Amino acid sequence: MSDGRKKPSIPTSTVFGSVVLMMLARLGSLNALEQQEGSAFWSRWLGRPMPSADTVGRVFETIDLEAIRSCIHHVYTRLKRNKALGEFGGVYALVIDGHESFSSYLQSCQGCLKRRVRAGDGERTQFYHRNVSAVLVTRDFTVLLDVEEQRKGEDEVACATRLCRRVLMNYPRAFQVVLADALFLRSDFFKFLLDHGKDVICVLKDERRDLMEDARSLFKSEPPILIDDGNVKREVWDIEGFTSWESLGRPVRVVRSLETRRVTRQLTGEEEAETSEWMWVTTLPQWKVGTKEIVGLGHARWLIENQAFNEMVTYWHANHMYRHHPAAITAFWLTLMLVMNLFRAFINLNIKPELRAGHTQLHFARLLSAELYGDGDSEKPP
Ligand SMILES: [Zn+2]
Repeated sequence: MSDGRKKPSIPTSTVFGSVVLMMLARLGSLNALEQQEGSAFWSRWLGRPMPSADTVGRVFETIDLEAIRSCIHHVYTRLKRNKALGEFGGVYALVIDGHESFSSYLQSCQGCLKRRVRAGDGERTQFYHRNVSAVLVTRDFTVLLDVEEQRKGEDEVACATRLCRRVLMNYPRAFQVVLADALFLRSDFFKFLLDHGKDVICVLKDERRDLMEDARSLFKSEPPILIDDGNVKREVWDIEGFTSWESLGRPVRVVRSLETRRVTRQLTGEEEAETSEWMWVTTLPQWKVGTKEIVGLGHARWLIENQAFNEMVTYWHANHMYRHHPAAITAFWLTLMLVMNLFRAFINLNIKPELRAGHTQLHFARLLSAELYGDGDSEKPP
């Protein structure tokens, strides 16, 4: 690993290693990391004294991002080779998702995006950061692959396209289909992926009104397929050959799922039926991926948005601004992706299923933190 310092007195790998430990222990800040300075375990593991918070911040401003990306790639390759990554719904899917990691009225950097926000009677300028992450969905767990910061003057789709271009280069055979939300219902994005031999599943919303109306009118005259998996009953329509998305220039398939689940109201204790409607548009033909699998994949994207990113933010301090600098923000995010992949791989592959079943992932994360926090004189380095 390397960074932009001319004559570094502390090797980049020591600084990087200390951030990996900080994240694994979920310390949450560079200052908390600095307070571990006296710990024999940490110094022994790093092979030298702990770098200061300021040094870590400065190194991360110019750290070689490609080196962190290749660490993530290395972990992916090992998991793949060890047959730890099974297919989900018959395919490997890449989820593309946007996330706002920071916003402030006061602090800004040269990479900050700006927007006008209504505040009281007037308007104020707010600074913020957004990124798009690429996450591989496999049968047992998700693997966080890469991230790209949204730049000034570009939208999320342009940012996602830049991200996909690199992911396609680094992981050309890792996935067959890209899952994205309605924001990515754009013919340029679809065409870009199709040109690279990848299919797309996208949430269908009113942004494509022509296609939506076309699909709805056809679904009215077709009987649904019934899929019952105990808790949820689904009426599903699945029709191919819609040509009303003219700018795409090829037919697409639309899947609609009307879902009813029984929920018990906490206040009254009464059971009620809750219905929700889901619609997806996809370039995947029915012969390749069946109706049930499309519904499963469509929900997987939603689960990732709601669970994986919430988990990153709530338990792993993903939104913490360790260093307000555009390159440092990407470097810390990539490092967290690596740490979470290692953690998930450890939980899923090294802990016996019967032990794993009785506890949440958070439980194991806490145990790990406790070990790393401890003085650790009796412990061997991991
Ligand atoms: Zn900024």
